[in-house]
Amino acid sequence: MSVPILQVEQVHRRFGGVKALAGVDFEVNAGELVGLIGPNGSGKSTLVNVITRMIDSDAGRVVVDGADLTRVAPHRVADFGVARTYQRLRLNPELTLQENAATGVLYRHQRPFASALRLWFDVRSTRDAALAQADAALDLMKVPAAVRGKLPKEVPFSLQRRTEIARALVAKPKVVLLDEPAAGMNPAEVVELGELLAAANRQLGVTVVLIEHNMEFVMRVVQRITVINRGERIATGTPAEIRNNPAVVEAYLGTRGEAKASAQA
Ligand code: ADP
Ligand code: MG
Repeated sequence: MSVPILQVEQVHRRFGGVKALAGVDFEVNAGELVGLIGPNGSGKSTLVNVITRMIDSDAGRVVVDGADLTRVAPHRVADFGVARTYQRLRLNPELTLQENAATGVLYRHQRPFASALRLWFDVRSTRDAALAQADAALDLMKVPAAVRGKLPKEVPFSLQRRTEIARALVAKPKVVLLDEPAAGMNPAEVVELGELLAAANRQLGVTVVLIEHNMEFVMRVVQRITVINRGERIATGTPAEIRNNPAVVEAYLGTRGEAKASAQA
């Protein structure tokens, strides 16, 4: 039986004259591993930012596991069971990979002020427990123990990304939203990432929303795909259904045409 875990209803968001989200709908069931795809500029990151309360929507509703998240304070989002990673990596450059992953624990507690966070994190027993949880998540993401004491800049980009995903998992989310995690990875790393996400989904039971513009990668990994274009949902279905959907093909060809035109300009 399918139980909805994330419901996005008619969400709108405008930036000046740009309608980034124009009444988008999006539903995910508990335990699913789904793809949210769309061409560049279609509103994917804006939708993640709205769901995670980094920005306000102009209209519409976001519900997570039955709880209305639409206007909750941003620091409470983790308490509702939502975690994310960023399109542009956001690790703390001064913390080791293990410490970065451990800070995911902080998301679970209502501590809006940085000083309070620091104080709390420095309590020895809490810190040790957080580091143990970080190790479990880093194991799952196959970040080798030998590099966990290194700073982000000292390891390959793919390991930085996987550390960021581990940090999100440490928060024990019901739903984790990953904003283009494969960007900047080579083909072998992308394949491995797909396997790691499937393993996290299966072993932790966490619902995973994989946001991508790389359609081929998503097709191989997810059970179901929703496609947005110009801030609206244009299709939802299995990878096979999406591949043959005329509206989707057109949306992607359209942007490829634009990319070509601007490359020539
Ligand atoms: P995607 O993640 O699908 O590539 P985005 O959500 O980043 O797309 O952007 C959707 C549209 O909204 C784009 O036209 C983008 O330029 C615009 N946009 C996004 N964020 C902002 C912002 N903070 N200020 C102004 N325009 C923005
Ligand atoms: Mg984006």
